[in-house]
Amino acid sequence: MQIVERPTSQGVREYEMLIGGEWVGSLSGKTLDSTNPFTGKAWATVQEAAAEDVDRAVKAARYAFDEGPWGKMTGTERARLLRKFAELLGENAEELAYVESTDNGKLLREMGAQMKGLPEWYYYFAGAADKVQGATIPSDKPNFFVYTRKEPIGVVGAITPWNSPLLLLSFKLAPALAAGCTFVVKPAEHTSASTLEFAKLFEEAGFPPGVFNVVTGYGGDAGAALTAHPGVDKVAFTGSTETGKLVMKSAADHLAKVTLELGGKSPNIVFDDADLEAASNGVVSGIFAATGQTCIAGSRLLVHRKAHDEVVERLSERAATIKLGDPLQTETEMGPSAFREQMDKVLNYIDIAKGEGAEVVSGGGRPAGDEVKDGFFVEPTIITGVDNEMRVAREEIFGPVLSVIPVESEEEIVRIANDTQYGLAAGVWTKDIQRAHRVAHALRAGTVWVNSYRTLSFNTPFGGYKTSGLGRENGLEAVEEYCETKAVWVELSGNTRDPFTLG
Ligand code: ADP
Repeated sequence: MQIVERPTSQGVREYEMLIGGEWVGSLSGKTLDSTNPFTGKAWATVQEAAAEDVDRAVKAARYAFDEGPWGKMTGTERARLLRKFAELLGENAEELAYVESTDNGKLLREMGAQMKGLPEWYYYFAGAADKVQGATIPSDKPNFFVYTRKEPIGVVGAITPWNSPLLLLSFKLAPALAAGCTFVVKPAEHTSASTLEFAKLFEEAGFPPGVFNVVTGYGGDAGAALTAHPGVDKVAFTGSTETGKLVMKSAADHLAKVTLELGGKSPNIVFDDADLEAASNGVVSGIFAATGQTCIAGSRLLVHRKAHDEVVERLSERAATIKLGDPLQTETEMGPSAFREQMDKVLNYIDIAKGEGAEVVSGGGRPAGDEVKDGFFVEPTIITGVDNEMRVAREEIFGPVLSVIPVESEEEIVRIANDTQYGLAAGVWTKDIQRAHRVAHALRAGTVWVNSYRTLSFNTPFGGYKTSGLGRENGLEAVEEYCETKAVWVELSGNTRDPFTLG
């Protein structure tokens, strides 16, 4: 894909919501601004939905599931629509990338690559749609034929975050459509525009009305109304662990099923026998790519004492030359934080680290320079002398801040790596293949990269241990998260039996 750079000062875009196949305003008439984090100015307005709007959307999704043509389609027919949609996503990847970068400040070069890969989610799950199959059970009762059916769970209520809105939506939507569910999404209030552009393409692909609905607005209002709605059969959430707990409690009130993809404090482990150049590069990608605003950020560097000084020196050199700037320019390596409060939170954590006795060896504040003065920038920051008990080692910062913890034996490394409430991801850098597998097996995390960091795929399960989440996204097992299993018992002999015993 050719990325075309565009000026950041286009007119303010105005968006409505997609409910039941129609573009509508919120019933209250309220809207909210979406700010471009590079310019600090509003570039789009979206509708501010309240509970009544969410109710409309859930009812539209319910109608589409129970009464509309979608519920009667075969997997083969659903797959055709998914493939058509994938094609449209591919044709419009450049525009979607532009909207995402403008909304959340992540690099156009990163969002461009993400959007180019996005169709693969729909092609892959199109391939799964006609293979959502049950089993015949070899019954222990000779007069019964028993089989299972995999049926769609029903209406899905999805809540997505601001850091990779369409990718994280697709982790949920693609398997949900393969299973035959209908869907209501509430994107993050800071970054709703790309989901609305995506919804236009969804309509164009020819899905029946109400299969996919978008409500926009604040988490505490529209989001909470969606997770609490009794018409939602399954809640799929990506966001912070704190909000994830609220979402799960709310879903519990009507016993909706949940999948949660939450926070992390992932260890990136560098043994002294590693290729230190490759490892340092991997550490940079783990924490400074995407401005550290990813749930899989490798925010704790556990480095063997023997390699500590060399790795820190390499990292500091690279951090100092990271090109900060306009996310839409292809030479930019790191963009701003997605919004002001996020920047303030990151800066506050740097102060906390200093207060706890750690040392900032690179970055540590807001960068100087004309190009970055209006944006919510924080310098790539490296903090050494961190103890795993310090807050910067325990709490998710969601910014470009690396906490370096010196370690010694393999046993100590595994213990410290696992000494966290989180368990989303981890990196292991070593040339010793036996050690690599040993450590990968010992880590309590949903994804472990060996001599690599920050790779994901539609076909590989992704999710967290411990407070990093519940359930898995991607891979064939993701479809199961959107299915109910029905057992069907068929009596074959025609005889009657004792009505007062369990058969
Ligand atoms: P962050 O703190 O990084 O903004 P959140 O977990 O709060 O992350 O937000 C992720 C998503 O959850 C956003 O779409 C947000 O609007 C939504 N959200 C926030 N609070 C709630 C809530 N109480 N119920 C449902 N969704 C919420």
